[in-house]
Amino acid sequence: SIMDTDWVGLLEEAKSLDGNPNPGELRFDGKVAIVTGAGAGLGRAHALLFGKLGASVVVNDLGTGVKGEGAAATPADKVVAEIKAAGGKAVANYDSVEDGDKVVQTAIDAFGRVDIIVNNAGILRDKSFTRMTDLDWDLIQRVHLRGTYKVAKAAWPYMLKQKYGRIINTTSAVGLYGNFGQANYSAAKAGIVAFSNTLALEGARANIIVNTIAPNAGTAMTATVMPPEMVEALKPDYVSPLVAYLGHESTSETGSVFEVGSGWIAKVRWQRTGGVGFPVNKTLLPEHIAARWSEITNFDDGRATYPTNTQESFAAVQANFENVASDA
Ligand code: NAD
Repeated sequence: SIMDTDWVGLLEEAKSLDGNPNPGELRFDGKVAIVTGAGAGLGRAHALLFGKLGASVVVNDLGTGVKGEGAAATPADKVVAEIKAAGGKAVANYDSVEDGDKVVQTAIDAFGRVDIIVNNAGILRDKSFTRMTDLDWDLIQRVHLRGTYKVAKAAWPYMLKQKYGRIINTTSAVGLYGNFGQANYSAAKAGIVAFSNTLALEGARANIIVNTIAPNAGTAMTATVMPPEMVEALKPDYVSPLVAYLGHESTSETGSVFEVGSGWIAKVRWQRTGGVGFPVNKTLLPEHIAARWSEITNFDDGRATYPTNTQESFAAVQANFENVASDA
């Protein structure tokens, strides 16, 4: 099982492969990157990598606990110091992502532009749906979905004007598949996927590229649910290179979702069954649907497709306008 895996051993083995030749560096000189929630965990790793690769980095972090309690400047300050110590350029911002305009203003004030946004800040309020309060629900929507919206919204006019932008938003496998005790979080994270896909469409003409990652990493957030060896093995450093790739000017990928962790990266898409079209000139009864249920839900009859936009999605619905039974 996953618990029995020798994560530390695997990690040591991976380290010994570090002598692999670098295929050529993707640099970010002259670019300005904002990473939210960059005082710890995944955001910290993303910020350090962007700093190392030449970007000027805004290290945003409210310095709050995993459940969103309290605030502190220390986490952001520490990461700024780390980036500077490594020879990079960085400034701190301590605002909540709910005040996205202030986060973006820090980039404008310090560096005069904004090219890359990594929406990463997040908290948890896990509870069974029965016990979940309005506050548990609202806080999670505010930090994850509204925070992602607010930072993107504030940066958008700058990106449109300069005809350049890279936005990487953070969902979760939980936002794609659901998870017990995370109705609030899964809803916010699914919202981020849909939001990103729409921004990808609206940004395309201005060379604004928008993608979403569903990471797995050992951090303060996951330390509560993972054994220590797994936290150690699932280094955030395995996720950041994908964020850098998606943030680079050479990438053309947009409107996509990636699951990433432990050095493994995969793209996710929707699949739809071939479906069943009922005649439009006959009364459709629940019984008709029951009779064809195995066809409606069959992905394996060779007719399943992967719609990539709402036009493609609607085409099948529209085709059924012509589905007139001659025996009606
Ligand atoms: P983490 O708790 O280590 O770091 C999150 C950081 O965000 C903290 O430093 C915190 O102070 C900051 N933050 C919280 N609320 C903020 C706010 N309102 N404004 C600004 N900063 C705020 O968590 P992590 O595991 O690194 O998670 C990073 C992101 O990745 C989150 O969006 C999380 O939902 C997502 N994610 C993580 C995992 C994982 O396995 N770690 C899995 C799926 C999704």
